[in-house]
Amino acid sequence: MQQEGHLHLFTWSIQLSASPEELWPFVSDTNQIFRLLGAPSVKKTQLTRSAPKGFIEVTNSHLSSYSLWEQEPYFWEKPYRYGTTRNYKVGLIKQMKYQVDLIPNKDGTLLNTRVWITPARQQLFFFAKFYIERVLKLRYFRILREYDKCSSQQLLRYELNNPKTLVRGAESRINKIKKTLIEETKRKRIINHLINFIKKADDEDLVRIHPFHLAEYWGEKKYSVLNVFLHAAKLDFLDFNWDVCCPNCKAPKSTVRKLKEVRTSHYCEECDLDFELDFNTNTHMVFTPHPLIRKISRRRYSFGEPNTTSHKIAQHFLTIGESKYLDVKLEEGTYLVRSHNHKGHLVLHAREDGIDTFSVYLKNEDFNGQEIEVSTSPNITLINNSSKKQVCFIEKKDWKQEATYASEVGSAHDFRSLFPRETLKEGTNVKASGVTMLFTDLMNSTELYRTEGDEFAIGRVMSHFKIIQQIIAEERGGIVKTIGDSVMAVFREPVSALKAVERIQQIFTGSTGIGDSFKIKAGIHFGDCTTVNLNDRTDYFGTTVNIAARLVDIAKEKEIIISEAVFEHPDVQLYLNKKKEILFVKEDKIELKGFKDEAFKVKQIRLERPPLRLVV
Ligand SMILES: [Zn+2]
Repeated sequence: MQQEGHLHLFTWSIQLSASPEELWPFVSDTNQIFRLLGAPSVKKTQLTRSAPKGFIEVTNSHLSSYSLWEQEPYFWEKPYRYGTTRNYKVGLIKQMKYQVDLIPNKDGTLLNTRVWITPARQQLFFFAKFYIERVLKLRYFRILREYDKCSSQQLLRYELNNPKTLVRGAESRINKIKKTLIEETKRKRIINHLINFIKKADDEDLVRIHPFHLAEYWGEKKYSVLNVFLHAAKLDFLDFNWDVCCPNCKAPKSTVRKLKEVRTSHYCEECDLDFELDFNTNTHMVFTPHPLIRKISRRRYSFGEPNTTSHKIAQHFLTIGESKYLDVKLEEGTYLVRSHNHKGHLVLHAREDGIDTFSVYLKNEDFNGQEIEVSTSPNITLINNSSKKQVCFIEKKDWKQEATYASEVGSAHDFRSLFPRETLKEGTNVKASGVTMLFTDLMNSTELYRTEGDEFAIGRVMSHFKIIQQIIAEERGGIVKTIGDSVMAVFREPVSALKAVERIQQIFTGSTGIGDSFKIKAGIHFGDCTTVNLNDRTDYFGTTVNIAARLVDIAKEKEIIISEAVFEHPDVQLYLNKKKEILFVKEDKIELKGFKDEAFKVKQIRLERPPLRLVV
């Protein structure tokens, strides 16, 4: 420890074997680290509202250890460093600053932690110093070694935990539930994973469980894991809630148990932003253990740390005229540069061969949406040329890929049949931006009825609906309704709808035995819709739906008609390119009567191999 006047600096270094990237999700979770260190839980005070943007006022939750501080926004550069400063208003210390650096080397990572403390009264600090050096440091290193073990073996932390205390009688309830779950879902492996997770995970990892995140970790299909979670919720092993997140800072701003309780207008204090509930972009279904199985604490030990906004890869606080050099590692993809005081953003496209060095100037004017191709390990300099202090950050454009969005689960077959009453309040209109609508139609049902007789044909048509429903569910979509021989389905993303319909076509129009006599066609469009509860069922209305319905009308046998909007979506482009051997795309212009733009550009996709030709 060094001492400069009244400032004490503690420097702790430890060599770990995992890489900075592997360690980052663990070491950037200061909420967990502070809890494991034995720190008291904290809460934001009322004054947080009047603090400058990005700053929060924090106090201990227990009166016995009273202290109050203003916390500067955390700074971080993933996966190399993070830190923050606390300016105390009440307490034994005046200021505490800390910074953690992860320095890659040939053996893994050298993790350096520096803590600067300015005590309020020197004499009292003598004892604190002893505690910090002799107790906290050892505890901290023990936590880091455990994180290192998880990171290098690619384990989630719960796997190394001992089972936690469950509610009395929970063990026998779990055994009964397990038996029923296996009977209902036939997915024993996932059920075992889930039970093990609920028994062993730390409280903070059980507040919001995302099934798709665990599916990836367990190496299971997302659809199958969601299926087990929904059944487990029905059997009171799990509970679920709906989170409505702020579109700006992405933090959950309202959590309700039932969709009927959800409000459509919301406000984020931190961002000073009014926003609307959106079924397709900011409403997630999250799970938690049922209170009769395991009680969890929702206490917080830290606020604003990098882990809570993991879509942000870097954040810095800059005073007027200050510049900061950033050290980050990007994956290929799209990132946005934003700030708390500016509207708009800059777009960064990270590519291996993008430019290496560039500067971002923060001015008084808003960002203009400029797009730059940058390398995956760029040298970025942030320069604050504005007349205000700024919090500037770089975030991944697609956040929360692992979340379960209301649009994808709201019409899902499992969800509808297990929780039929779980819909929006009647009379509530909810936005669903950029949602994808798929219509399929069975063209020759009249012919089927005539040639095969009513009884046989009805059975075949019904089983055709079942197969379609199964495929749509596996591609994370849901059937909104069936209209005659037509299916209307909703997806969160256009490429999922395309994948589903491609599989449907393959089954029904391929030369497989099931359906060579079925003639199916489809139409896909995406855009904004309105979600409502119609007869206790989630339904969608708007031009997007009407256009998708028209597209299936003009499609011919074995054809999928997609709008230009769908065709130009980057994921669809990528998919069509990969599948160009079997999906044939032809451009066409059609007239959609009654729509503003009557000449509507569409793409016809056919899935048929050109006949084999033998060349002798
Ligand atoms: Zn916000």
